[in-house]
Amino acid sequence: MNNILKIENFSVHYPQKTALKDLSFQFKENETYAILGPSGCGKTTLLYAIADLLPAFCSTEGSCEQLKPLTVRMVLQDFGLFPWKTVLENTMLPLTLKGNSSQSDIKQARHILTQLKLETHENHYPNELSGGQKQRVAIARSWLMKANLLLLDEPFSSLDALTREKLQDDVIDYYNKSPLTLILVTHNIEEAVYMGKTIILLTDDGSIQTLLDNPSFGIENVREHQSFYHQCLEIRKQMKEA
Ligand code: ADP
Ligand code: MG
Repeated sequence: MNNILKIENFSVHYPQKTALKDLSFQFKENETYAILGPSGCGKTTLLYAIADLLPAFCSTEGSCEQLKPLTVRMVLQDFGLFPWKTVLENTMLPLTLKGNSSQSDIKQARHILTQLKLETHENHYPNELSGGQKQRVAIARSWLMKANLLLLDEPFSSLDALTREKLQDDVIDYYNKSPLTLILVTHNIEEAVYMGKTIILLTDDGSIQTLLDNPSFGIENVREHQSFYHQCLEIRKQMKEA
């Protein structure tokens, strides 16, 4: 499978702190990756570097390069919804901003909202929604725009366990129907094992501790398998040793 993104001896320095240290890794087309690490180890910084969104005041070494032109979509931890826009308007926002939304885009947006069980909420405003519903709108927005790289920054961290699992399922269903490269950042071990075909474990100081090819990925109802919990346990041990 083709590599689409190549990171080589890559470091990011903020004025007071080095956030990523000497990372080398290549991401393949249409694979899923979970980047797992403690708070503050540089996970968000890595997504920003991939999306070419690092602030100008940080300096970098090495390279983080797209090997083919990529359309990147990012779902942020705080949803990024406008409170004065409805669910449908928030979903349509990237197309509206580009000035080229058509009737068929609206139809497609409604289709995605239905898939995410938001069809009865399209005229509601974000403050009328639960946390899980807001997160779904943010996900719907990222699905409407055809992308080949989807970056998810701890997208489910504020949700209760069952809502979180349901949304993880929705994202994996979507991935199965329309494959794209998916990079998920999380500090939740179960989430990484459920969603990442490859798991990248970062240390506290922002270097790669371990790369794992995840045998649990893609197995139906894997959360009900003992092997899933063994794998989580193994990763938990490795993180403690970091
Ligand atoms: P994570 O997402 O893993 O929690 P971040 O990538 O947000 O970590 O941050 C990594 C480190 O870089 C942290 O110590 C954080 O304080 C620092 N950092 C992140 N963003 C900035 C910034 N804009 N300015 C200065 N330091 C930052
Ligand atoms: Mg972060």
